[in-house]
Amino acid sequence: MTNPPTAPGGGEERSSPGARLIQVLTRMQQLGATSLYLVPSRAPGPAGVEGGTTDAEAQPAGEATRSQAGLELAAAELAPAEDAEDAQLAARWSDVETRIRGCRLCRLCESRTQAVPGSGTRHTRLFVIGEGPGEKEDLRGEAFVGRAGELLTKILKAIDFARDQVFITNVVKCRPPGNRAPLPDEVAACNPFLDEQLDLVRPVAILTLGASATRTLLGTPIPISRLRGRVHLFRGIPLVPTYHPAALLRNPEYKRPTWEDVQLLRRVYDEGMAGRRPDLVPSSPA
Ligand code: SF4
Repeated sequence: MTNPPTAPGGGEERSSPGARLIQVLTRMQQLGATSLYLVPSRAPGPAGVEGGTTDAEAQPAGEATRSQAGLELAAAELAPAEDAEDAQLAARWSDVETRIRGCRLCRLCESRTQAVPGSGTRHTRLFVIGEGPGEKEDLRGEAFVGRAGELLTKILKAIDFARDQVFITNVVKCRPPGNRAPLPDEVAACNPFLDEQLDLVRPVAILTLGASATRTLLGTPIPISRLRGRVHLFRGIPLVPTYHPAALLRNPEYKRPTWEDVQLLRRVYDEGMAGRRPDLVPSSPA
């Protein structure tokens, strides 16, 4: 319940200390380094001398300088590549948002105040998907605001996710008039944006909120009451459905199943971050 959900660059393996160390060591080897000396940290010595062991004592003269120089050179050579990759991802992310905001691919553009690409961060491995923006979201340009949004924030907090540590979006990015469910052609028109966002975030788990989002993504008419409580797969990503926070506000009896669902989500997320696949059940329960 404590793993941080952030992964700079959209992928933990790109930035984890272990992966980076392997990259640096590999690069050092390519640069001709044949040995590596570990320099003890410099804690104050008993007689006021800084460090119990000096660099000269820990390794032969010259080798330390060469190793350090190689390490710094390798790190310097790697850093720009990582920065460039992240800059590229940031540019793609910004490009998707710009295209969503200017999109006129379906009739929902005619009644919206503004499109809502999503809220939160792309530096996450947890993706939350609702049906579509409501009235307040349409006005503020932010996903899941108002009472339902506040409840979602509390639900996420209960499983140790701050709202700004996840990415929250909807199946369609523009408000359907009168809060009706999105029509199939609207979903189809908007789907490529969701695909692009998923590609850039590369989540290890998806939480769907409500019957409409869940059934749309899973392509099933099965009621949410029978879809929840299980792990499904959406484009190869584990998906955990639960009730929509707005439904939860109207039906307090949904609190317990929602709590069970998000605990399941947390386990699925933790397994995913540890590189394990969760136990799946068929997405079409009898
Ligand atoms: S709902 Fe999606 S496809 Fe339709 S106009 Fe908005 S962004 Fe474009």
